[in-house]
Amino acid sequence: MMNSAKLSELTQEQLESLATQAKSYTQGGRLPDYIPLLAKVNPEWFAVQINCTNGNSFSFGETEIPFVLMSVVKPFVLLFLLEKIGKEAVFSNIGMQPSDKPFYSIEQLEADQGWPRNPMINSGAIALASLLPGADGLTRCENLCSWLNQCAGTNLVLDKAMLDSVVAAGGERNRSIAKIMFESGFLNEPEIAIDTYNHICCLAGNISDLANLGMLLVEKKAEISHKNRRIVNALMMTCGLYEASANFAVKVGLPTKSGVSGALLSVVPSAGAIACYSPTLDHVGNSKAGIFFLEKFTNSLNLSLFV
Ligand code: GLN
Repeated sequence: MMNSAKLSELTQEQLESLATQAKSYTQGGRLPDYIPLLAKVNPEWFAVQINCTNGNSFSFGETEIPFVLMSVVKPFVLLFLLEKIGKEAVFSNIGMQPSDKPFYSIEQLEADQGWPRNPMINSGAIALASLLPGADGLTRCENLCSWLNQCAGTNLVLDKAMLDSVVAAGGERNRSIAKIMFESGFLNEPEIAIDTYNHICCLAGNISDLANLGMLLVEKKAEISHKNRRIVNALMMTCGLYEASANFAVKVGLPTKSGVSGALLSVVPSAGAIACYSPTLDHVGNSKAGIFFLEKFTNSLNLSLFV
């Protein structure tokens, strides 16, 4: 049976039963403490929305709560740039290699002589941010945001309070990453790149926005080339959950991206998008209850791409 058929059989009762089980897992994780405002959210929040290509949509939990995308924005910056400047320009200074080090790893970057090895970790995303059109971080973020809102029908907005919190926290590690890439010739204008990266990580929406965003990667859209969609999905599958990506591909088998806000997005090609939000994280920095939910949900509906 095709994935699309399997997802279209979902019922609200089934979703509620799996989501209720997953919600209890929020207690097993921890809120990130390096961005003060992220440490202040309610650790028990849990929201999920499934959008299907047949038009059905199912949701559960705190569906109205807005949250920042953080690293879930990375696949969408990549998609935007592939559309606007093309594959050659995007990958001239950024690789497609998975890493088994954390998303903020300086050790990995040094081992690679300053080369950002993929767009799903911070080095690669900061390098992507440097390619966005616009004179400064805010303008670049607005350009990306309006393109996404137009293509995906989302209502993403910049969360200024979160941005202030990110800036106040200093972002030492990301600054070091930008400096190393700059000194190695892989990044221009590191200050603007960091400013842009901080802005785009603070784009915020609710669970419905996240599911709608995911639909950009699910099926044919007039404004997006299928080749670009494939590149983004492949990189989400191999790198989207950092060092947990390979394990997750075996357990779940869907392109997925996480962020330290607890946002989590999976793509079921041709069938739908699974958006999840739950802010407590596991040791890798992926949503604890979100990962649990995705495992249960995809296995009970048999959604893995690897038949
Ligand atoms: N802005 C966050 C950071 O750079 C994003 C990382 C993430 O979501 N994993 O630390």
